[in-house]
Amino acid sequence: MTLASCWPASAVMGAEVIYVKLLVDEEERTIPQAWQARLQSRLDAASQIINEYANVHFVAECFDTWQSDNRLTDLGRTLAEFEHEVDPHPAQIAIGFSSQYRFTRGINGLGGTRGPLRRHILLRESSPNTREPERLEALVHELGHFLGAAHSGNGLSVMRPVIGDGLARRPGYHISFDPHNAKIIQWVGTEVSTLGVRRYDQLSHRTMQRMLAEYEQLDRELPKDPAAKYFIKMIRTRLQATSRK
Ligand SMILES: [Zn+2]
Repeated sequence: MTLASCWPASAVMGAEVIYVKLLVDEEERTIPQAWQARLQSRLDAASQIINEYANVHFVAECFDTWQSDNRLTDLGRTLAEFEHEVDPHPAQIAIGFSSQYRFTRGINGLGGTRGPLRRHILLRESSPNTREPERLEALVHELGHFLGAAHSGNGLSVMRPVIGDGLARRPGYHISFDPHNAKIIQWVGTEVSTLGVRRYDQLSHRTMQRMLAEYEQLDRELPKDPAAKYFIKMIRTRLQATSRK
């Protein structure tokens, strides 16, 4: 692990800033100036899209590298390794871009995080048929999960389960959220920006209950997909635990 380079990032007027540490693994092929500029402009573009729905901005505060284990070929285990090795501090979250070639395809194949407001997000940087539009969409998708979004059956939503399907490159395509996930990320974004919420279990009961109703609808749209089910279980457990107190 090298020493991260960080600097005081500027505030963004009128929106809560979530500071981000951007990392690449040792398989990255370009020099630091090149990958840092590439990832920073991608994060800026993703942040602008998210900001159309939620009152938060994602701002790059640090750049760093990490060593990913060449023997790991699935995204789940690579995410576990990334969580273990990388401390997001002083930023709030760490987003890693791995160029390991041998990943097998996971549920959406391009990225992963464990759920709302978790501090690590991992994305595949090199994949045979992905280019910048797909990579931007994958980043928006994962930032959507960070703000509580689950998978949607709406084929035009950035939260459809399989992205990297060529849609991102179609002329006139604009990355957008379906109405259920748009509400969820707006509510979570509001709690982050107005109440200073930093962890999922700090969300208010009212917001969790409203999210639950949206997840139940998303689950009906995509009964075979695990994402909404996972969030429903998490929220029910949380609501039960706090109502017993
Ligand atoms: Zn997903």
